[in-house]
Amino acid sequence: GAGVQFWQLYDQAWDRKRMVVGGTCSTVGHAGFTLAGGYGDYSRMYGSGATNLVEAEVVLADGRIVIASACGPHADLFRAMRGGGGAFGLMTKATYKTYPMPIGKLGSAQGKIRGLQDGLARFLSWYAGVVRRGLSKHFGGQVVVGSWAGDAVALQLSYTGLTQHECSELFAELSQVTCKERERPWRPANAEEQPNGAEGWQATWEKGDAFAYHIGSAMRYFELHHAEDPAFAPAVARIAETSPKGLVLALNYALGHGSEMALANASDTTVHPQVYTAIGALKLEILQHEFVPTATTALEPAKATNFAALRAQLEAVVPGAGSYYHEGDYLTEAFQADFWGSSYAELAATKSRYDPRNVFTCHQCVGSENSPASCGRRLGGDADPVLV
Ligand SMILES: Cc1cc2nc3c(=O)[nH]c(=O)nc-3n(C[C@H](O)[C@H](O)[C@H](O)COP(=O)(O)OP(=O)(O)OC[C@H]3O[C@@H](n4cnc5c(N)ncnc54)[C@H](O)[C@@H]3O)c2cc1C
Repeated sequence: GAGVQFWQLYDQAWDRKRMVVGGTCSTVGHAGFTLAGGYGDYSRMYGSGATNLVEAEVVLADGRIVIASACGPHADLFRAMRGGGGAFGLMTKATYKTYPMPIGKLGSAQGKIRGLQDGLARFLSWYAGVVRRGLSKHFGGQVVVGSWAGDAVALQLSYTGLTQHECSELFAELSQVTCKERERPWRPANAEEQPNGAEGWQATWEKGDAFAYHIGSAMRYFELHHAEDPAFAPAVARIAETSPKGLVLALNYALGHGSEMALANASDTTVHPQVYTAIGALKLEILQHEFVPTATTALEPAKATNFAALRAQLEAVVPGAGSYYHEGDYLTEAFQADFWGSSYAELAATKSRYDPRNVFTCHQCVGSENSPASCGRRLGGDADPVLV
């Protein structure tokens, strides 16, 4: 239900030896995550928050409480809540799919491949091969290009549905990568020293990670043909070299060439359709403040200019590509097309049926183009980049 964070779900699921799809950081809330798509390390095998939502109890704008599911009178609402975000009503209860825990077939694949450009080219060539062989469903996680990885790419991947030995065989050509079986997919909430327990994440959030998510990430999907284009790796490497925080290749957020299980309900969701063809996303974290920003915190002009330049480079590498609402660009005004693509027309129609007075609104929410500017709908112009 509303307010549940993933550390709670993970502990409950582990007690029952069940797998659930959730975010990387255990303080992420299940409701917000699921309603807008929701992707994690095991999504390419088990699907997303949206594909795993089975039923929702929803308080509508007119005060009615309804049950939304794929069948019944509110099937349209249910589709909207499978990817359209929180603009359609308050979800007070959720029924969510779980799967048998793949005991002994779960772990991490980590290591550094030397050379920022060469390393990236080698990884992309490896990944494209894995996709072509129908094996990319086994992998999630991310690859850090530049930044703290230096003149290398750092693999921080997870695997599932393979033994450690099978994973190692697949990585044999990238000799610097080590596969290691893990007993459980998530650290317990009360993990010793808390590096990844709930408090561990909470502390990280309070120290700074949330700032980057708050205003400073831009993300675009990429497809298999990009990974196989010899010009792609050098272009992506150049962005990583220019970006103060490097660039991340996130395999999690795209389900293209994922398992049948992951794609089973794909056509009944309203996320950006490119989620189901892309094989990953290019992600930049751009702006940071030394303090917690508020709604009226002005952006520093130099950082805003840098942001615009990096975003333009990203768009040039994958022209017209979609993005993910929760990891996308807080400053984009084209949020409808960027985050939902061709799903937006349906979402807008459902919004006007269930919430014609726009009771549930937020920055870049579905229907927020109809909110007054004072609700944070519009951002200041380029010359005066102030968050309003
Ligand atoms: C540190 C960190 C790591 C993250 N990692 C991932 C990741 O791995 N994968 C991923 O997909 N995303 C990730 N995210 C993004 C995350 O999914 C979103 O921030 C999401 O909004 C979190 O959900 P919440 O319920 O905590 O949101 P809140 O901040 O509580 O709400 C955000 C929005 O969600 C909607 N909402 C929340 N609850 C309800 C409800 N009960 N009914 C209706 N609408 C509701 C509302 O529109 C609300 O404005 C991460 C975010 C952070 C900060």
